[in-house]
Amino acid sequence: MDHDKPDAAALLHLRAAGLAKGDPLALPITPASMFSLPGAPEAGVDAYGRMSNPTWRALEEALGHLEGAPALAFPSGMAAICAALFATLKAGDRLLLPADGYYTPRVLADRFLAGLGIAVETRATARIAEGGFDGFRAVLIETPSNPGLEICDLAEVTAMVRGAGGISIVDNTTMTPFGQRPLALGADIVVASDTKAPGGHSDLLMGHVASHDTGLMDGVRDWRTLTGSIPSAFDAWLLHRSLETLELRFARMCDSAGEIAARLAGHSAVRAVIYPGLAGHPQHALADRQMRRAGFLIGVVLDDAAAADRFIAACPLVEPTTSFGGVHTTAERRARWGDAVPDGFLRLSVGTEPVDALWTAIDEALQDATI
Ligand code: PLP
Repeated sequence: MDHDKPDAAALLHLRAAGLAKGDPLALPITPASMFSLPGAPEAGVDAYGRMSNPTWRALEEALGHLEGAPALAFPSGMAAICAALFATLKAGDRLLLPADGYYTPRVLADRFLAGLGIAVETRATARIAEGGFDGFRAVLIETPSNPGLEICDLAEVTAMVRGAGGISIVDNTTMTPFGQRPLALGADIVVASDTKAPGGHSDLLMGHVASHDTGLMDGVRDWRTLTGSIPSAFDAWLLHRSLETLELRFARMCDSAGEIAARLAGHSAVRAVIYPGLAGHPQHALADRQMRRAGFLIGVVLDDAAAADRFIAACPLVEPTTSFGGVHTTAERRARWGDAVPDGFLRLSVGTEPVDALWTAIDEALQDATI
C-alpha cells in the first residue's frame, strides 16, 4: 500500500518560497485582534482576530502540507473534535464512538450530545466494522486507540462508512501524519491533538481538523468563528515551530519505542507488552500495512497497581504525567482515569532520550519495582 508520506524537506521550506529580500526566515508572530479595515470588508483581508490571523494561516499551511488537505487550527484536540462533531451532527442523528479510545469524547457525548437529540453508541476499535454502519451519520475512529493500541483497517472501515452514507472522522493523535495519513486511506475528516507529538515539548495545547470536503470544512470554520474556539497567535506560532522538528522527533521516538518494546517483551518483571510493531500484537500485520511506523506508545502490564506505581517512582528517566508524545519519556497507570485496562497497565510514551540510557533506567526501575 502507498503510505503517502508527507514531504518533510518541503515542509521546512514552505515559508522560504514566498520570502522577499530582508524578510525573516523564521515565521514572525502576529498577535492581533484588530486589523486596519477602511471601507467595506473584503474576502481574503483580515478583519477581526476571531475570524482569521496571519500566524494561524502559516500554521494551517504547514498542517495542510502534513495532512495533504486543507487544515484548520484549534486551541486543543478536544476543540478540534468538537468542531468536527458539531459541524456534522444534528438532532436525530446517530454517532458511533470508539469504546476503547480516548475517554473524553464519550463524556462529551453523554454530557452534551445526548441532550441535543444525538443517539450515541460505542464499539471496540478492533471490532468496529462488525455490525456495519447503516444509520450512522458520523463514525469517530481512533487507530491505534489510546490507551489499548487496538487497530482497525482504515481503508476498509472508511469505505464501509461512506457506503452506508455516513462520515468518517479519524483521530490520528497517536500516529501523527508521519505515522499514518488517514485521508489518503479514505477518511472524510482527520482530527488530532497537536498537544501531543506535534507540539512535543509539553508546553502547549493545540489541535486541528483537515479534510478535502469543502462543505465540511466550511462548517468547521463557521463553528470556530461563531463559538470563538480559536487558538492564540502565540500557540499557533509555537506549534508551527515545533512542526519543523516533528519528523526528527517522531522517527527517534518510534525507533526507541521499537527497541524498548522488544526488550520489555523479554523482561521477567513484565506480564504483557502491547505494541503494534511486535509480532505478538493481534493486528500486527494490519499495522505493518497501514502505518509507516509502529508509534511511540507502548502498553506495559506489570503485576498490579503497586508494582506499576513503584516502577514510575523508581525510574529517573520516566516522568509521572498524563498526556503523551513529548520529548521526555512519560508513563501513567491508565486505570487511575477509569480506562478499561488492568490495574497494572502503564501507557509508556517514549521520548527522545538516547535509547541505551533510557533502557538502562527502565531495566533498573523494573528490578526495583518487583523486589
Ligand atoms: N485524542 C486523543 C487520542 C487524545 O489522547 C487526546 C488527549 O489525550 C485528545 C484527543 C484531546 O486532546 P487535547 O487534550 O489536546 O484536547
